Amino acid sequence: MTGDPFSTRQAAASAEQPMIELRNVRKLFGDNVVLREVNLAVNRGDVVAVIGPSGGGKSTLLRCINLMEHPTSGQVFIEGVDITAKSTDLNAVRRKVGMVFQQYNLFPHLSVIDNLTLASRKLLKKPRSEAEDHAEALLARVGLSGKERSMPHELSGGQQQRVAIARSLMMEPHVMLFDEVTSALDPELVGEVLDVMRELAATGMTMLAVTHEMGFAREVGNRVVFIDGGEIVEDGDPEVVLRDPSSERARRFLRKVLA
Ligand code: ADP
Ligand code: MG
Repeated sequence: MTGDPFSTRQAAASAEQPMIELRNVRKLFGDNVVLREVNLAVNRGDVVAVIGPSGGGKSTLLRCINLMEHPTSGQVFIEGVDITAKSTDLNAVRRKVGMVFQQYNLFPHLSVIDNLTLASRKLLKKPRSEAEDHAEALLARVGLSGKERSMPHELSGGQQQRVAIARSLMMEPHVMLFDEVTSALDPELVGEVLDVMRELAATGMTMLAVTHEMGFAREVGNRVVFIDGGEIVEDGDPEVVLRDPSSERARRFLRKVLA
């Protein structure tokens, strides 16, 4: 079998089909139950802010959506395709589901443009000129035109994180996952990265963002998911979840972070 399993099966998908769906996802590390029976459906264009206390399972949830972790049981569907099935093409999943981390993970010995074009050239066999045109367009989108030849260490943390986002967009993902991407930044650099995420959301990108930025969650998210103890405890409109959550656990968490 050759070809991208997504493009063929996607055609059969109905418009209402969730972009991402988790069914009864459990994840254990040894005896430690990190995700318990998580069910979640994310629609195309949803921007989901994922919040909750440290150790609650937020990162593990995101990592199960791009198969950096494999659920112990349950299923994950992307555009209707069960990516937890044995036959899954991991590379196809990673292309559809981009992920950006707290640590930018740029290749330190490669220029900005080479960081962006490496995967297109090596994995997708794109000609250099085509890959570089695409990269330049994305660098412009994240406000970094002119930095093509810079090395990562010559850039601020905020600029490096914007390069990391642009690099992820090179694969033309259908979903973007962000795991505390502003947490390592100096406060004055947080805004420029959130601005890039805000613009991406405005283009209709489906996004899940683990964040401590409650203002961002409220403004940009159309949903807030609160995770504690490996469970989705709240899932709803940001105004409701952030202002008047139904659970005591969420109320306690929000009192701390909004204090
Ligand atoms: P959060 O992102 O909400 O802080 P995580 O998903 O990182 O939470 O972690 C949830 C729990 O899973 C924690 O108890 C953590 O120690 C554990 N955990 C996460 N990754 C691993 C791993 N690779 N091996 C063992 N335990 C892990
Ligand atoms: Mg985490």
